[in-house]
Amino acid sequence: MKASELYELYIISEYKKKTSLGAYQAKVDKFIKFFSNPNVEDLFKGENIRAFVFDEGQDPGGKYNAIHNFYKFYYEKYLELPQIEIPIFPINKKKEIIDVYKSEGQKAGTVYIPREVGLEVLFEDHFYQHLNSRNAELTIKAAFALALSAGYDSGEIDPTNNKSEGIMTLDDFIIEEDYVKVRNFYTQSHVPWIIIQGENAVHIKNYWEVRKNAQVEREKDKKRFIAKIWSSKELKEFNANREQKKKIYDPNPIISYMLKYISSHLELSTSLNITHLRSNMILHALFKTKGAALKDIIEIFGFPTYVKNSFEIYCEEINTDVNSYFTPYSLEAGTTEEMEEEKKTQKSKESLIDRLVRDSSKVKKLKKIYHNCCQVCGESITLLSGVTYSEVHHIQPFNKDHQGNDNIPNMLVLCPNHHQLFDMGILALDPENHTTILHVDEALPYHQKLSLLKHRLSFTCVRYHYENIFLPLKTKLSKEIIIPLNDK
Ligand SMILES: [Zn+2]
Repeated sequence: MKASELYELYIISEYKKKTSLGAYQAKVDKFIKFFSNPNVEDLFKGENIRAFVFDEGQDPGGKYNAIHNFYKFYYEKYLELPQIEIPIFPINKKKEIIDVYKSEGQKAGTVYIPREVGLEVLFEDHFYQHLNSRNAELTIKAAFALALSAGYDSGEIDPTNNKSEGIMTLDDFIIEEDYVKVRNFYTQSHVPWIIIQGENAVHIKNYWEVRKNAQVEREKDKKRFIAKIWSSKELKEFNANREQKKKIYDPNPIISYMLKYISSHLELSTSLNITHLRSNMILHALFKTKGAALKDIIEIFGFPTYVKNSFEIYCEEINTDVNSYFTPYSLEAGTTEEMEEEKKTQKSKESLIDRLVRDSSKVKKLKKIYHNCCQVCGESITLLSGVTYSEVHHIQPFNKDHQGNDNIPNMLVLCPNHHQLFDMGILALDPENHTTILHVDEALPYHQKLSLLKHRLSFTCVRYHYENIFLPLKTKLSKEIIIPLNDK
């Protein structure tokens, strides 16, 4: 029997009404097209069903249900087989589908922003330019600021679970000239308000200024702190430009969209979500204060899982035993001295090299981000044991002729070989995407892509180097080498 005939029978049957056909019909149709309309028996072979259900990395759950339904229709209703003779559907849903998710890393734990990058990266204006809505930008930045300073996740900022208790309302905020106070929802803590200062307070205040006078459409949004304060028109162009079909107008989807967008620009392995931000806040606060913030953190938030996990990661990164924070005598005297001694030698080696190399603070910062590894080949050069070396290349040369600037987006960390190749213009970055490496002689084997990219590069500087250094050399080479050959 032809699959298309069975499909016709299926969609006019009563059987389909047992499930929500609306969602499944298109999937069954796709399934048949996927195998270009073979016989039903071929279609229902185990490997074919598996190939379709697990294809393309989208959620296999919906496809499973659709095909499962179609499969059962064939055996139960069309062939009218008794229950015991119906072959078992070739996928054991729960187990296999969960395994696929796991293997694709979709159920990964918290995502952390590397300590060298810093959390302020989330607020960089260039990420928000494409939104075309100032109010949406303010809302997102305020939500990030709350997650980063008061540890609130989406459930508290604006619930996705329809629970209305514990959402932040306008009454939960007190805005003062140089700080913001937000009510503390943590039950483990006795601190009634969380005080927010600095950059994060500025983002909350900027939003507050607009929010307090904003008209909101829905009744339930009237008191909510994070609410939709833009018109649907404002995001129209943005929605039209997005690849996904589903339009974003509400705060929650747009907040999570922006986190995905920023995560992909930061080249994080998995996307951050708003719940991850509070773990990041704890971890970065520990780094910044060399662990001293732990006491305050516990006082304000208690010691829930996300504090515990972030603290453990901190200890792992700085190579310290978690318990040493809680017991004063956990390290033996001898061990500590040895460690101190080793640290001293290491420090003096590093400062000797520092004096030889004489980097500016920006260059030092950037080299640290890459641990002195070359962004092209990923290698680092070891000078003395434990001391590595790298060079910083100014993409648009930092000299009188080319007038490049001395800012980090105009820099690349490179090994001396690749530094030379970039300086001469043998190599360049593709101005269209910043990660593809171009070579004047395309026939030569070389690294096709930057192997490391952890900081933002300047569009203008990359284009400058490409147009003014790389292309002229390439043109010159093609004239001097290829044309004389053709003349012969
Ligand atoms: Zn290199």
